[in-house]
Amino acid sequence: MRKPRKSYRHRSIGRHHLRPETLMMSYGYDPRLSEGSVKCPIFQTSTFTFKTAEEGKAFFELAYGLREKRPAEDPGLIYSRLNNPDLEILEERLALWDKAESGLVFCSGMAAIATTLLSFLSPGDVIVHSEPVYGGTEFLVHNILPRFGIKRVGFLAGSDAKAVDGAVREGRKLGRVGVIFVETPANPTNDLVDLRQCDLAAEGLARSQGHRPLVVVDNTFLGPLWQQPLDHGADLVLYSLTKYVGGHSDVIAGGCLGAEEHISAVRGMRTILGTISDPHTGWLLMRSLETLKLRMTSAMKNARYVAEFLADHPKVDKVHYLGFLDDDDPQFEVYRRQCLSPGSTFSFQVFGGEAEAFRLLNRLKLVKLAVSLGGTESLAEHPGSMTHSDVPPDEQITLGITPALVRLSVGIEHPEDVIADLEQALKAV
Ligand SMILES: *Cc1c(COP(=O)(O)O)cnc(C)c1O
Repeated sequence: MRKPRKSYRHRSIGRHHLRPETLMMSYGYDPRLSEGSVKCPIFQTSTFTFKTAEEGKAFFELAYGLREKRPAEDPGLIYSRLNNPDLEILEERLALWDKAESGLVFCSGMAAIATTLLSFLSPGDVIVHSEPVYGGTEFLVHNILPRFGIKRVGFLAGSDAKAVDGAVREGRKLGRVGVIFVETPANPTNDLVDLRQCDLAAEGLARSQGHRPLVVVDNTFLGPLWQQPLDHGADLVLYSLTKYVGGHSDVIAGGCLGAEEHISAVRGMRTILGTISDPHTGWLLMRSLETLKLRMTSAMKNARYVAEFLADHPKVDKVHYLGFLDDDDPQFEVYRRQCLSPGSTFSFQVFGGEAEAFRLLNRLKLVKLAVSLGGTESLAEHPGSMTHSDVPPDEQITLGITPALVRLSVGIEHPEDVIADLEQALKAV
């Protein structure tokens, strides 16, 4: 690729450091390479011409890792299953939020998770993971990875260091622990996992098994604005970009960010599995990134009003909102250390059971009854029978997924409009 001039990668003006929200409009893109177009065009192409056969040879040598990169040599564009300008610029911009060295985008969050896990786990390895995790991830670790000889041990989100250490010890008995996988806050209960504990556990394993497992964090719920796991000992951060980053409920995509050392392994796996995103989706996500901070900030503020309304409502039993953690709750210290805000997705329990929850959901007029989260519009769903329906009933209860639980993703509408809708719907409970 003809790389943009250095000025398009400037992250400061003199000594003044530029913030990610500022850089989302320009970083990594040189208009002079595209007829002066202010916005990055959609490079809707499957393949790229080489100037010379020698150049094509050099590009392939780097892409297939046949030799080390020469100083100042940039990998060239070859074919859109390997790389594409829209996706490369998007990856550079995405990495800025998490202060990551490198990033990768995928055709879905699940593609990001599966490709990353397959990059670091081999037959005989063990994955230690928090519970509950996203339904697709749960299916992957319970049903698909075992077919390739990869075992799993889970620990409950919201539990203390002993639970993490216990799971790691059990994992060691089964084989080499290759990955510690964490989803925090957990979906749908917002229980937190202490990332420092996971980092310490990984360090302990580095000594006992001679290999540090990677700490991999699915940061879809609070990231990238309200939680940056790389600052707290994580090695890789994963996203369903479908949610807050895409933010308009109109694309499916995923991301993986971290040090180039690890990312290069995932990049190689992505090339072969073919799980990269496409130019048009990349372009849409760049557009989304320009308003990411505005959207996440607005939704976060709205969610506080909505959570407070629900907490005061006589038909609501419990609200699992991070902003309501008591300071004597052991989770509070974890929250203060690793989260910057409670975000805007949380669940609440009405008095009663499934019937009461359904009556509420069926009466909603403005809030859409749909799974997913992080969009501009508010969404509500019933975890017990929808997103978490494949979790057996007794396990659902252990995980805090009661029949009366409703999950809400608060959007950027006027908060009083969302509250008015919930208020009329709660009358049916
Ligand atoms: C949605 C989601 C995923 C899966 O992402 P897709 O883009 O739907 O493949 C993974 N993890 C979490 C926490 C999610 O919410």
